[in-house]
Amino acid sequence: MVDVLRIALPVPLPQLFDYLPPEGCPAVSPGTRVKVPFGRRTQVGMVVATANTSTVSTPQLKRVKRVLDATPLLDPELLSNLLRSADYWLGAPGEVLFHALPNVLRKDRPWPQTSESWWCLSGQGRQPKAWSGRRGRSRALLELLSERERRADELDLCLPGWREAARRLRKAGLVETRMVDADVAMPVAVPGPELTAAQRTAVEAVGKHLGRFAPFLLRGVTGSGKTEVYTALIARTLAAGRQALVLIPEIGLAPQTVQRLQARLGVVVDVLHSNLADGARARTWLRARDGQARVIVGTRSAVFTPMPQAGLIVVDEEHDTSYKQQEGFRYHARDLAVMRARHLQVPVVLGTATPSLETLANVASGRYQRVDLRERIGAQRQPPRAEILDMRGQVLHHGLSSALLHALDACIGRGEQALVFRNRRGYAPVLTCHLCGWFAQCPRCEKPMALHQGRSRVVCHHCALESPVPRDCPQCGHAELFRQGHGTERLDEALTTRYPDIPVLRIDRETTRRRDAFEDLLGPLADGRPAILVGTQMLAKGHDLPHLTLVAITSIDEGLHSLDFRAGERLAQLIVQVAGRAGRADRPGRVLLQTHHPGHPLLQTLLHRGYHATCEELLVERRALTLPPFAYQALLRAESTRRAQVDAFLESARLALPDTSQLRVSGPMPAPMPLRAGRHRGQLLLEADARPTLHAALRPWRVALGNMPDARRVRWSIDVDPVDLY
Ligand code: ADP
Ligand code: ZN
Ligand code: ZN
Repeated sequence: MVDVLRIALPVPLPQLFDYLPPEGCPAVSPGTRVKVPFGRRTQVGMVVATANTSTVSTPQLKRVKRVLDATPLLDPELLSNLLRSADYWLGAPGEVLFHALPNVLRKDRPWPQTSESWWCLSGQGRQPKAWSGRRGRSRALLELLSERERRADELDLCLPGWREAARRLRKAGLVETRMVDADVAMPVAVPGPELTAAQRTAVEAVGKHLGRFAPFLLRGVTGSGKTEVYTALIARTLAAGRQALVLIPEIGLAPQTVQRLQARLGVVVDVLHSNLADGARARTWLRARDGQARVIVGTRSAVFTPMPQAGLIVVDEEHDTSYKQQEGFRYHARDLAVMRARHLQVPVVLGTATPSLETLANVASGRYQRVDLRERIGAQRQPPRAEILDMRGQVLHHGLSSALLHALDACIGRGEQALVFRNRRGYAPVLTCHLCGWFAQCPRCEKPMALHQGRSRVVCHHCALESPVPRDCPQCGHAELFRQGHGTERLDEALTTRYPDIPVLRIDRETTRRRDAFEDLLGPLADGRPAILVGTQMLAKGHDLPHLTLVAITSIDEGLHSLDFRAGERLAQLIVQVAGRAGRADRPGRVLLQTHHPGHPLLQTLLHRGYHATCEELLVERRALTLPPFAYQALLRAESTRRAQVDAFLESARLALPDTSQLRVSGPMPAPMPLRAGRHRGQLLLEADARPTLHAALRPWRVALGNMPDARRVRWSIDVDPVDLY
């Protein structure tokens, strides 16, 4: 009987690979990285399990060449949850495991230094008699630290080999480390405001579950102080000697969140997101794995953070679709966070003012508990409700009605700040010829290209193709092209002209490309002097902009026309979130909503009866149509430069499905965007009333698809629980 190692390799195949352990090293624990021969190359793999037998006969089994980690890199919880999530979202196990690792650790390289910590003497180590019997390096280290505390890299320089001594002295209780981030000094905790009764109730409700799995929806209107609730819960978690993970939807929110938490908690808060430099990301990840990082804030991919001493997981703005990865391994970070919380036996708090219908359904079925913060902090108890501005027949100035402009004038006149919301970047969505009807069109997507005036380019927002702006009409030679529609750039220009004396700040993907740009841009708002913010939905995501008193939503009609069954939910969330930026200080806020469809039922319900009532209606509709969350979907997408190849593949894929009435199949059909970046796109939608039914069909289907000759001619993927059908 031999021991066999089951190894995951970063290849797009659903199976694991069997190897013999390296000579003289029979026990390699799961979670350890190894180097193995694979085909003609060597690969870094991850041991996932050990077994007594293999389906491959022993003489053919190859041997692991080298073990890369002295202790497993992934602990059993993270390893098993990653494998479970690979199974759920149909990722290849090896790809999922390696995707979860920071880049640096995917390769055969030494671990980066994690110790940005400073070494110092402990209370005991400062007693001279405690030093007796310590000689050599230990003595030298004690002496160095008695002068002052020192960083690891400094000790590397002045006392080579100090680590062994430090380990011994730490064990004896003579030295300790103090965590100090490279360039952030240890913040000092400042006491927070006294919690309101509602906040205290929320903290109690969750807090009494610390130490066991309990999922919560924290439903709090915008400005109700959810962050203070998280903070109080994190403080309790830290006091219990445990780690906390906070997921946020947008990198731009990280500085604000980190500052608030650090100030309150008095510990260094670590940040993890995919924009970090490789080294820094790996360092923080390893610090979390060592238990050095106590509080970790991060975007979607931070859900893969190892947490050996986990105590709490928070998912802020749980409804945000950025938690769903839209390419490669299409996991949902919120759902994975709940999955991890269950196995870590910790509470998980999903916070938002606008819960997703999925989460509301989980509350209704009793799987999640709900805690409410019904009122705002401060004088304005309720967030402002939007007032409709009927645009029909109005004269518009750059898309803005005169009623809207009057409200802006008044707001600025009172010395206050305003937000003008427009969910389109660029100057104009379409550049067209008034004479012959030509318009700038992306040849690869067959959609209009947006004019970006400042950069003198037309840009395809679907595939990012750019080209120079033509001077005259390429079709008829007419000397003037018409800029149709309004993007944030155009509103920026129009408002700057109208209000030359106050700052007009534009926030969209173009202006915030640079790291930290967000914070810099919002800087001028801090002192509360008049300013106008123009921006896209990036601004809908939980920014605390306390001085805004007017929010103007210039158009939402695209959302009302969308065919996506989630469009109503999205639009309601967007309106409530954007509106929620107004009136946070002690001055009342006003929200204006321009539309050509003032009587639309969704708007009527939302404005008169609120978000919750809207969701109830939407849920009734979804149930009647057996759509999620009352059904479970998976979407097979395929694309190729040739339409026929897409059709052939999807047709074979359909035939490979089990013939059961429990599975509803729609398609093959063209994707809502049938052409993108020069590739034809099609899809096949699977629906079932029960999750197990869907997964029972998906697993063998995926294997069958992988073996299809037609599959080699297309790019395909399966999206489990897709958040949009594009
Ligand atoms: P939310 O995340 O629910 O939108 P925030 O946590 O951003 O709300 O809180 C809104 C504002 O109210 C913040 O400026 C915050 O500092 C303040 N705040 C929160 N809780 C309290 C409290 N108990 N007393 C006074 N101010 C508070
Ligand atoms: Zn023309
Ligand atoms: Zn394009």
